Amino acid sequence: MKSFRLFAALAALGVAAMTHATTPVLIIHGGSGVVRRDMTPAKEKAVRAAMTKALLDGYAQLKAGKPALDAVTTAITVLEDDSNFNAGKGSVFTHDGKNEMDAAIMDGDTLRAGSVAAVHRVKNPILLARAVMEHSSHVMLVGDGAEAFAKEQGITLVDPSYFRTEERWQQLQKALKEDAAKQPHADLETAKHFGTVGAVALDSDGHLAAGTSTGGMNDKRWGRVGDSPIIGAGTYANAQCAVSGTGWGEFYIRTVAAHEICMKVSMLNEPIQRAAAEVINQEIPSMGGNGGAIALDSDGHIAMPFNTDGMYRGWIGADGVPHVAIYDDEPDPSNQTPAPATSSAQD
Ligand code: ASP
Repeated sequence: MKSFRLFAALAALGVAAMTHATTPVLIIHGGSGVVRRDMTPAKEKAVRAAMTKALLDGYAQLKAGKPALDAVTTAITVLEDDSNFNAGKGSVFTHDGKNEMDAAIMDGDTLRAGSVAAVHRVKNPILLARAVMEHSSHVMLVGDGAEAFAKEQGITLVDPSYFRTEERWQQLQKALKEDAAKQPHADLETAKHFGTVGAVALDSDGHLAAGTSTGGMNDKRWGRVGDSPIIGAGTYANAQCAVSGTGWGEFYIRTVAAHEICMKVSMLNEPIQRAAAEVINQEIPSMGGNGGAIALDSDGHIAMPFNTDGMYRGWIGADGVPHVAIYDDEPDPSNQTPAPATSSAQD
């Protein structure tokens, strides 16, 4: 009788655990490398409005019980369509005057991933990355081949002139003039990589996903590909952790930054805020790089470290209210400084 009661109690607990829904969370970034002196009130207002829309549209997917992947693609698509960000419509120009975009997505539940690099005509590269993951037997497609696949999949292709914005064109002209005069660039290295967009989400089933989309670096040459479309460098998700990075991509590739953060969480059981801060604020700067990242664990803990003047960042969770921050002196739920190895940085 006793053992029957114990069994019944355990079964009840088991059922409760199985039906317990996770509170969804969505975090987005619109790039590190924000230079405070370059911001105008109008630009700041437009950026905050776009970030708010991306959060609300993405979170609506999670509230409707859709998977984290849907929230990630929805939020990133909003930012790709807004010329204030260096992704999709607002992509920077290459040295040759082209817009060459990279994107990646990863499903933490299944470890499936898709990515594209050096595409010129894909309106929303994140949707093509997702199609690569879901409808091809490959992980990464580049250039003309990626665009041929996009056509087969019915992904929207546009004339390359769609991506031309005057602001980005002038940024390239300035860099070209400096190149021609053999002058060092007046802008900090930081200013060449900015405005990349990314999202990480936790859905009501407790599954994580991550995605990143970018035009890369202003004045890039020779088919340069950054970290964003490289699984493990700029984008990674598994069952415990999801990360999207933004910064000087070469350093994110060399530190395998997104995977490094997630391995600290998954294998070493580190709190996500400490893991993310160690990689972003210690490992990358110690090699001469800079940037930021957004990271989320399966308990909904958020990390948003960065080491530039600002990082466009936003989050939405249990309260259903979109929160947006830009500068380093604006509060966010992330702990910016790594905690000592012996204590927990969370909460
Ligand atoms: N990480 C991107 C790249 O290097 C740029 C950025 O994040 O702004 O292509």
